Amino acid sequence: VKGGTDIIKKTKGKSKIAKGEVGGGSFQSMGLHPSLLRSLTLQGYRIPTPIQRTSIPTLLANPPRDLVGMARTGSGKTLAYMIPLVQRLSGRHASTFGARALILLPARELALQVLKVGKELARGWNGKEGAHAGDNQGETSEKGQALRWGLIVGGEGLDEQFEMITNNPDVIIATPGRLLHLIVEMNLDLKSVQYVVFDEADRLFEMGFETALNEILHRLPSSRQTLLFSATLPKSLVDFAKAGLQDPKLVRLDAES
Ligand code: ADP
Ligand code: MG
Repeated sequence: VKGGTDIIKKTKGKSKIAKGEVGGGSFQSMGLHPSLLRSLTLQGYRIPTPIQRTSIPTLLANPPRDLVGMARTGSGKTLAYMIPLVQRLSGRHASTFGARALILLPARELALQVLKVGKELARGWNGKEGAHAGDNQGETSEKGQALRWGLIVGGEGLDEQFEMITNNPDVIIATPGRLLHLIVEMNLDLKSVQYVVFDEADRLFEMGFETALNEILHRLPSSRQTLLFSATLPKSLVDFAKAGLQDPKLVRLDAES
């Protein structure tokens, strides 16, 4: 694992190790939209975990920066990328064609969990301070429609998933095998994706998705922001990060996370 860190540092030069680094100390100091802060409060998230404290400000900075986040299971990696995702997409549906964010996970159950976290976070976003209107998925307001989520995982009917894609989701949460199938068989276009997350990346590799992930990588626009989150960083993953990420910030929290 230590060697892996060195490989990224050597080739990417500017990658930093943020060991236990404390960024903004609270969600309130991160410049988040009031709807997002309200969501976090309502769900009982009072203070960011260490991986969230470092990742969220980095991911929201301009220009966008790639990031490798390494922290143990249960350290709060989902919100570390989901909060910036919802903020970057302004919590609303865009009528332009094509998904703007893509999250890849190794299993259907994990994809369902992440979908739930994302929907809860974006719930009630209406662009007005303090407002939280409940589940407004699909509703319209003067600020536009609710963010649309598409789940592309094995075990679902292909027809159903084709319909999901024609609904023009803003965020696609997918397992690699099924996503690649839709790309190849149904010409699913990923050219408008700006924000890509490889979550549970060590497990994505353990489960043999490396080839599929490389295929998917080749179909993404080069101007994207790319994130990789993992509990461990074996060499195969470091090589993948070198190929798929640009000068990533390495946020590594070991025992103290
Ligand atoms: P990981 O992906 O690192 O394994 P998760 O994102 O699944 O971790 O989060 C683990 C648990 O911690 C979840 O139950 C989640 O709701 C909770 N959690 C995440 N962030 C916070 C926070 N800031 N405050 C309190 N609980 C949190
Ligand atoms: Mg996780």
